[in-house]
Amino acid sequence: MKTYERLLIENKVWAREKIQADPEYFNRLAQLQTPEFLWIGCSDSRVPANEITNTQPGEIFVHRNIANMVVHTDVNLLSVLDYAVTYLKVKHIIVCGHYGCGGIKAAMNNHDHKQVLNMWLRNIKDVYRLHREELETFTNEEAKTDRLVELNVREQVTHLAKTSIIQRAWQNEQRPDLHGWVYGLKDGIIKPVFEMKAGTVIDPLYTYDDL
Ligand SMILES: [Zn+2]
Repeated sequence: MKTYERLLIENKVWAREKIQADPEYFNRLAQLQTPEFLWIGCSDSRVPANEITNTQPGEIFVHRNIANMVVHTDVNLLSVLDYAVTYLKVKHIIVCGHYGCGGIKAAMNNHDHKQVLNMWLRNIKDVYRLHREELETFTNEEAKTDRLVELNVREQVTHLAKTSIIQRAWQNEQRPDLHGWVYGLKDGIIKPVFEMKAGTVIDPLYTYDDL
């Protein structure tokens, strides 16, 4: 059997189990999606949003990319954000990084990862530069990487708050709250590291006054 064929077989097993437990399961899900959460996570295969939060299909709207970045020119991320905030009306957005993130590690060395990875990793290098003073006090490389993971999550949450999409929702509907979390690969535990409640005052340089 080819490896991918196993996925299709397991899919049938899963679907059958779901229907056995709840005959209306798919009918209900097919009609409506009203997730309360938007998840912006890392593409890393070890950090599946639903599994680590013990949630079901329909509960979390998900966007994933390398190192859970919020890049202001990323049409994919911005489309997901706009749809989740403006139409699904999510109440919470979670940016979830993870310790030991390969994307973060890659951005901390000087290896030429070639285009297009160099372009993407440069966004993480910018976060490093903003926090260089603190990061360069670390002598343990793993601890330094983990700290950059936390600082990166924090930075990406603030990037969300700089968008007109978020600012308009904050002004008109007092939602969503923004959360920065870090998942531990070694213990499976999520650590909240940063939060911006709806309506948080941000740097006036990035505030729109005519939304
Ligand atoms: Zn990662």
